[in-house]
Amino acid sequence: MPNLSKSRFVSGAQCEKKLYFDINRKDLKPPVSSQQQALFDAGNLIGQLAQQVFQGGLDATTEMNGNWSLAIDRTKSWIQKGQQTIYEAAFSIPNGFAALDILHHQDGERWAIEVKSSTSVKQYHLTDAAYQYFVMQTAGFQPDRFFLMHINKQYVRSGDVVPSELFHLEDITSLVLEKQAWVKATHQQLIQMLEQGAEPQINIGPHCNSPFACDYQHHCWKHLPENNVFDLYSPRGKDWELHNAGILSLDDIPIDFPLNHRQQLQVQGAKHQLSFMDDASIRDFMAPFEAPLHFFDFETLNPTIPLFDGTRPFQQIPFQYSLHVTDIQGNIQQHFEFLPDPSAFKSGLSMADDPRYQLIQQLKSNIAPTGSIVAYNASFEISRLKELAASFPDEAAYLQSLIDRFVDLLIPFKNAWYYLPEMGGSASIKSVLPAIDPQFSYADLKVNNGGDASSIYLAAINGVFQEDWSLTREALLRYCERDSEVMVVVYRALKERI
Ligand code: SF4
Repeated sequence: MPNLSKSRFVSGAQCEKKLYFDINRKDLKPPVSSQQQALFDAGNLIGQLAQQVFQGGLDATTEMNGNWSLAIDRTKSWIQKGQQTIYEAAFSIPNGFAALDILHHQDGERWAIEVKSSTSVKQYHLTDAAYQYFVMQTAGFQPDRFFLMHINKQYVRSGDVVPSELFHLEDITSLVLEKQAWVKATHQQLIQMLEQGAEPQINIGPHCNSPFACDYQHHCWKHLPENNVFDLYSPRGKDWELHNAGILSLDDIPIDFPLNHRQQLQVQGAKHQLSFMDDASIRDFMAPFEAPLHFFDFETLNPTIPLFDGTRPFQQIPFQYSLHVTDIQGNIQQHFEFLPDPSAFKSGLSMADDPRYQLIQQLKSNIAPTGSIVAYNASFEISRLKELAASFPDEAAYLQSLIDRFVDLLIPFKNAWYYLPEMGGSASIKSVLPAIDPQFSYADLKVNNGGDASSIYLAAINGVFQEDWSLTREALLRYCERDSEVMVVVYRALKERI
């Protein structure tokens, strides 16, 4: 008999085929990425912290080793004995099952509390809360109130984290009640689908990315040709309009279909391998560059639980940088890098021991007093420097002097002043680089994207990183080095052009 857990219900609510694959085609499921693992780990830490807001509870899942019936029996018996708070309270109904983060009894009421690592209530939170309510009610344990306990984005750390201030308890009872008829009907429909045992015939659609990017796109979307309509630059619905009209390839887009300038360049590039260069705009853009050039890149993390006093949840914290210094032709003269030990990232440090302060001090010795500072999507680096200035007011004047020298290498590509067909529909450096120099890539690197770098470093800070740190540290250094080095390659291509 098929059995729906909360996560399976959420999966099936997004797409019945997704739920079918979850159960019957585990071979299609991609392995858990380091970024996903970091999210799970962070979620576990948040869950433990949330329990401190409702202290003294019993955990129904302790030492159960996957035995959910034990957790269900414990929950039932503890409720009957009047236990005020139960963590991971578990409930079952015919064909259904749900575990709740915190079950709490107060003022004669039964509160169901789900903990989320986000800063507001999202629609998809209501889907899983509504399913939990449905299971609890059907099992005979109807909550009086249902709360979502999410992160308070106004929280500013000062000393030890205060869980009751870090979390915000939001009453979503009425929203959950509104969804009960839909939950009941959807539950029946999903069970029927699973009982029939046949793969649902469902086409791809916007649901493949809403509310989550589906894990099975590599399978369901594989019929799409290279250079397809979903590669269109900033499509704003034109991709689905074309797809639904039976047009899959950029080559097949009718000549009279309305496209903006950037999209037209892309389609002409795909159809006829045409490049586009606006030399006058590139020349104007390059005119203010002053040597020595400093090609600069930050890696950052944005921890849910603030690491330092004065910071908020999810505030971006730079933990690493790479800096290539060149002459005006783009000949590399020096390379600098910064990456402290993860153990340095903790609260309660003196200013001198704070890795962010040390980063600023190293910038002072690495960046010359004159010359442009070049970044790709410079607003990101500028925002981090402004945040550092807010944390270290005595350094604000120096950091502002750096901000005043920034130039953004993204601009000629974002504005399509320099467009090669191989860039497709993206101006990101990971698309621009292979178009400019196919020999130069990230493929040889062990860490090859910023998301992984951030996840790995945060896992190391939290003490849950399992692999060899010295090898991983080296991989992080080489990744960040490549980020600033590829900017030099891109700069040289612009320079050669003019
Ligand atoms: S990729 Fe789309 S159609 Fe395929 S299972 Fe996922 S959501 Fe469903």
